[in-house]
Order: sequence, then structure tokens, then C-alpha cells
Amino acid sequence: MLTCKEMSELGSDIIDRHLGLRTRMAVFMHLRMCWRCRRYIKQLRLTSQVLQQLPLDWEPVDTAAILDKVRKHAE
Ligand SMILES: [Zn+2]
Repeated sequence: MLTCKEMSELGSDIIDRHLGLRTRMAVFMHLRMCWRCRRYIKQLRLTSQVLQQLPLDWEPVDTAAILDKVRKHAE
């Protein structure tokens, strides 16, 4: 079973669907019983949608820093 800390470390991989089947199942199980992580993943997803809508000729965005901010906000 995943802990909330592991969930937050997986964060962007969950959004980008870079997970194997086993991890995906574990994430799914965790999300079913943990509202905090549900909220966290929802915020991450919103953030990544916003990032994808940014114009391409912008300066490179420090995605990690933004995700970190969201993560802190979710705690
Ligand atoms: Zn959790």
C-alpha cells in the first residue's frame, strides 16, 4: 500500500500516466480511501492543464518549482 508521501512523489507521473500496472492499481486503491491525495491529484491535474495551455514561445517554465508550490499548498 502506498503512503501519502509516496503519492506526492509519484505526483506528475500519475498525471502523465508513466506508471506500470501495479503502481497504477496501488495509486487507484490509495485514492479511493484518501481524500487528501484525491484533492492533491486534482490540483496537479489542473496545474498541468494550465501549463499545457501556455504559449509555446514562452520562456521555459520551471514545472518542478510550480508543482512543488502546488504540493505545499495541498498540505
Ligand atoms: Zn493519501
